[in-house]
Amino acid sequence: MLRVAAVAPDSIGAQLGLQKGDELLTVNGRELVDFLDWEFLAADDVFQLETRTAAGAARSYEVERADGVPLGVALEPPKIRRCNNRCDFCFVDGNPDGARKALLIRDDDYRLSFRYGNFATLSNLKDKDVRRILEYRLSPLYVSVHATDPGIRRRLLRNPKAPEILPQLEMFAAGGIQFHTQIVLVPGVNDGVVLERSLSDLYAFGGPVLSVSVVPVALTEHSKLELVRPPAREEARRALGSVRKWAARARGERREGWVYGSDELYMLAGEAFPEAGAYDGFQQVENGVGAVRYLQKLIAEDAVEMGGAAGALAGRRILVLTGQAMGPLMPSVLEALAKATGARFDCVALENSFFGASVTTAGLLAGADFRRALAAPEPAARYDLALLPAESVNDDGVFVDDVSFATLEAEAPMPLRLSYHFTDALGAEAA
Ligand code: SF4
Repeated sequence: MLRVAAVAPDSIGAQLGLQKGDELLTVNGRELVDFLDWEFLAADDVFQLETRTAAGAARSYEVERADGVPLGVALEPPKIRRCNNRCDFCFVDGNPDGARKALLIRDDDYRLSFRYGNFATLSNLKDKDVRRILEYRLSPLYVSVHATDPGIRRRLLRNPKAPEILPQLEMFAAGGIQFHTQIVLVPGVNDGVVLERSLSDLYAFGGPVLSVSVVPVALTEHSKLELVRPPAREEARRALGSVRKWAARARGERREGWVYGSDELYMLAGEAFPEAGAYDGFQQVENGVGAVRYLQKLIAEDAVEMGGAAGALAGRRILVLTGQAMGPLMPSVLEALAKATGARFDCVALENSFFGASVTTAGLLAGADFRRALAAPEPAARYDLALLPAESVNDDGVFVDDVSFATLEAEAPMPLRLSYHFTDALGAEAA
């Protein structure tokens, strides 16, 4: 069921008389199942729309709009397609009690893969889903391949019925679909020769496989540690060896690296990150691939502009809270900002008390972690402002442990700002 969540004032939707709670039924006689149907079927400038009001009254509209003018209709969030796998490394199993509700959902949704870049395994597709992917040309899709060997992939997904991934990719590629893919590396299962074969198979696809990321399995203290463990340093190094070998070949033949190790893989291997240029436009930065270099690049670029705000920020003392992974890398990043603005930055790398110390990414820090850091006697006296990683809250401003940013703001001894790359928050601060 597709329901209207809001209608923008003065929009075409408002002029038609559409209202919050209306059910959107058909466009030109075709049933609307979800947001994809709405986006694709209602993309024309002229169409017939059938709806039902919250009170049950049927309505019909002849919609006409000038080219590209939005309808101004926001939809209720879609019902997430659930996963039919049971991976040993599933992050849902790694959640402690009290985790935000959404973190307990095993989503495996090709629609969110297309719309937001969420990785999907394609193991739960029905025939009608395949038809929609092809008809709407949902490309690129973000696909969790893990291994191209069907038996090993089924073992990784803990799903004996998972379809073979290579024929699936072939079928979609024939329909013009492209893919960004990931291999979550589980030591002893899909590394070594299995990884080599997976990379070889994916490389043989040519153009449709746009990129591959190799990401070590992410575990918390609550994960099924009796079944799965993170790669050891040597294992991470060997995996990076494969990444480098295929990347060198791709760079020679295709003029871009094509396969990339995630930042976490480099950290596990104890090796330095490649330079920013090696990430070819940061195609999988949301998957933790080149995230540090990307941040450095953004800050270096923005720092030049921040020079204009030097007057407003000069002399201010700013506390930066982040995760353990970024902690050691922050001084070099913040140095450029300090130079540009005249502000003084201090960084505190927090340990994750919610998922356990093994989880080092800033985006998974809990509200309680920030609360503890901000309540320490020192910050109140020393800082004019604290910056928290914006990726640690959801769209409603809530941390993984259900503590809200608004609550922290009310408690904190100094103003707080959420920030993706510092200059976003500092620019607003200086304005
Ligand atoms: S595919 Fe695996 S990791 Fe992803 S939600 Fe399903 S069980 Fe969890």
